[in-house]
Amino acid sequence: MELIVLGSSSKGNCYLLKNETECLILECGIPFIEVKKALDFNLATVVGCLVTHEHGDHCKYVKDVINSGIDVYMSSGTKEAIGIESHRIKTVISFDTFKVGGFTVLAFDVRHDCEEPFGYVIHHKDTGSILFATDTFYGATRC
Ligand SMILES: [Zn+2]
Repeated sequence: MELIVLGSSSKGNCYLLKNETECLILECGIPFIEVKKALDFNLATVVGCLVTHEHGDHCKYVKDVINSGIDVYMSSGTKEAIGIESHRIKTVISFDTFKVGGFTVLAFDVRHDCEEPFGYVIHHKDTGSILFATDTFYGATRC
């Protein structure tokens, strides 16, 4: 399993967590063509895409991901803020655990200046657990 960083700044965020058989996309804030290039134009291994929140540098190209037949996971607050209706958008709730291919993902709510930002704990048998959180801090107490 390797983590490929395609973008990690306010210009656009996108990461690929992949091995030979599966690829999970984290965020889609860069032109989708860059993802395709990184995968040699073979999207068959892509099992899904996780989005943390609605800011453009994290989800500007969500439509292109959906149009490529890839399911995108996010909070319902993020979905509303993005304003795209598609059966490809899968809303998850905080502390939900869900399967994306061979990845088991736990969503959790984080703090950021947007509707309903999430971080994710991503587990795969090849890697163990990976914590993915961005643009945030995690407050142990709610206020
Ligand atoms: Zn943000």
